Amino acid sequence: MQADIFDRLAAFPREQFLTGPTPLEHLPRLSAQLGVELWIKRDDLTGLGGGGNKIRQLEFYLGAARDAGADTILITGAVQSNYVRAAAAAAARCGMKSVLQLEDRVPGMGAAYQSSGNVFLAKLLGAEHVFYPGGEDEAGADAALNDHAARLRQEGRHPYVIPLGLGNKPLGALGYVIAAQEVMEETNMFDAIVIPSGSGATHGGFLAGLRALGVGTPVHGICVRRDRAAQFARLKEISDRLADLLGTRPWLREADIHTHDSALAPGYGLVSEKVMRAIRMMAEGEGLFLDPVYSGKCFAGVIDLIESGEIARGSKVLFVHTGGVPALFAYQDDLRPG
Ligand SMILES: *Cc1c(COP(=O)(O)O)cnc(C)c1O
Repeated sequence: MQADIFDRLAAFPREQFLTGPTPLEHLPRLSAQLGVELWIKRDDLTGLGGGGNKIRQLEFYLGAARDAGADTILITGAVQSNYVRAAAAAAARCGMKSVLQLEDRVPGMGAAYQSSGNVFLAKLLGAEHVFYPGGEDEAGADAALNDHAARLRQEGRHPYVIPLGLGNKPLGALGYVIAAQEVMEETNMFDAIVIPSGSGATHGGFLAGLRALGVGTPVHGICVRRDRAAQFARLKEISDRLADLLGTRPWLREADIHTHDSALAPGYGLVSEKVMRAIRMMAEGEGLFLDPVYSGKCFAGVIDLIESGEIARGSKVLFVHTGGVPALFAYQDDLRPG
């Protein structure tokens, strides 16, 4: 138990975007179908501007931005990034402007992908879009964003950059250390927890929060962007950086980190038949929406883990729904039923 982690956390500047704990719900029909006791943490309902996991992460970034006297938030992501849309909402809530840099990460997408879903919502939120031609170049995308910030500074503005690359303070992960505490304050009955693993801030933060509380429940990270080996290395790095940020020694062990990539193909932001089946199963079975890039892939990962026996039948399983539903509209041509 490292309760002091939570004291250290309380010292970080933070905005309050969530109105309270997100719901924890039992899913009876999917439980019967899958042969486990399935629960869902509704982090799609984090309240602000379309919700999702990034709202928790942004509480800390916007807190830091406010402390720095910022008037403009800059952030980079895929064209249908939920993060940049959520950042635009967070900026609006704090009376700041936002510049969203959209990267060309997903090849061959059609018109709906380029203009609907999160792109449309960000425009409603008053965000400015700029474009970055690369897709798999975190350092390049961050450099372009910093150049843009420098130009704004010359105009007398006060930009705050939310960086993408691993070499930065993992402020976003702090939001998920708190999410783990939130779940454990309600119950620690789970035998397994399944959560998407993209940048790793959500997976890393949640896992670190659990272990800081002395809870040893396995946390399965479902890869949405990189294969399991690359994602494992990334999680180790996040674990170290998180400890650094909190001024303590790393407290995660390698054996705590589980990454799975059975739902990743054909790649980041691309839809597979398996993921479409998972999205329909949740919609038809429980009346809840998942997205094709993250939460649908993660639920496909839940199904795989049960079918492969890595999660035993009869287990109490928590699936963390990280949101992303606005992106559904951008994928309507790929997902159309029948
Ligand atoms: C960004 C995102 C994720 C992945 O979270 P990371 O913290 O980047 O790993 C999962 N689900 C949704 C809906 C997202 O937008």
